[in-house]
Amino acid sequence: MLDLWYTENHTDNVRFSIKTNKHIHSEKSDFQQIDFFESDEFGTFFTLDGLMMVNEKDEFVYHDMITHVAMATNPNIKKVLVIGGGDGGTVRELTRYESIEQIDMVEIDERVVRLSQEYLPITAGKLEDPRVTLLFEDGLAYVKNKEDGYYDLILVDSTDPIGPGEGLFSHDFYNNCFRVLTDDGILINQHESPYYPSYAHEMKRAHSKIKGLFPITRVYQFHMPTYPSGHWLFGFASKKYDPLKDVDLDAWNKLGLKTKYYNTDIHTGAFALPTFVKEMLDDA
Ligand code: SAM
Repeated sequence: MLDLWYTENHTDNVRFSIKTNKHIHSEKSDFQQIDFFESDEFGTFFTLDGLMMVNEKDEFVYHDMITHVAMATNPNIKKVLVIGGGDGGTVRELTRYESIEQIDMVEIDERVVRLSQEYLPITAGKLEDPRVTLLFEDGLAYVKNKEDGYYDLILVDSTDPIGPGEGLFSHDFYNNCFRVLTDDGILINQHESPYYPSYAHEMKRAHSKIKGLFPITRVYQFHMPTYPSGHWLFGFASKKYDPLKDVDLDAWNKLGLKTKYYNTDIHTGAFALPTFVKEMLDDA
């Protein structure tokens, strides 16, 4: 029996491996190396430049947490911009809200979308919803050219700050996000992980840029077994609504959406951060 193990480096000293059954697809797109695998433990999964992006087993955690925290905080969100998100999982969660009228997804790499449609219908299955427009371009340039005050919500569902995702962690990008958001707009952005120093460094960098820009900035955490250390964070930056003080959690429960990770206890609890994380963010 041939054992095929997928292995990625989480740090120079730590590796993470998954036993796979099949290397389904491998290609170098114009932007990155794309690989799809099949495994017993995580189902189908894909990696970009050797880093786990999405797998069938834990994708619900990430996609629940990138979407529902903001949607519960402001139920009047109508126009949403997703930057990256080529697997379609974030769009899938957004399409569950009847109140949303427009979802624009700006993904730099069309190949990620097409391959996800082929191999990961579990996440890509809602990309054909009539409210969704797919735009294959650089998110950085897209927000730069977009008019002021257009979107109620921006979800940055990007890769790490290396390769094509690098610009999505820059001052320029966040300033343009602020400008294209409405007066009560919300931005959810990648905050990486607090655990290993190289990721914690990016977490602090991302937070320091958002902190001075938006009147309300918070960070929330969740558990992603396949991301480095399993401890992952999003930033919540908002012009008006505080996700803890202004949220009507009963109203979200009344929507009757069935979720596997997010619930209204998690909504509140996710913002309670361990002391070492608070100290790092205070210092950012
Ligand atoms: N859940 C994932 C994670 O955190 O690892 C992110 C998944 S999603 C596949 C990330 C997507 O961001 C990729 O498909 C990548 O092509 C896209 N991306 C990276 N840089 C981008 C940019 N500058 N503009 C638009 N999309 C970008």
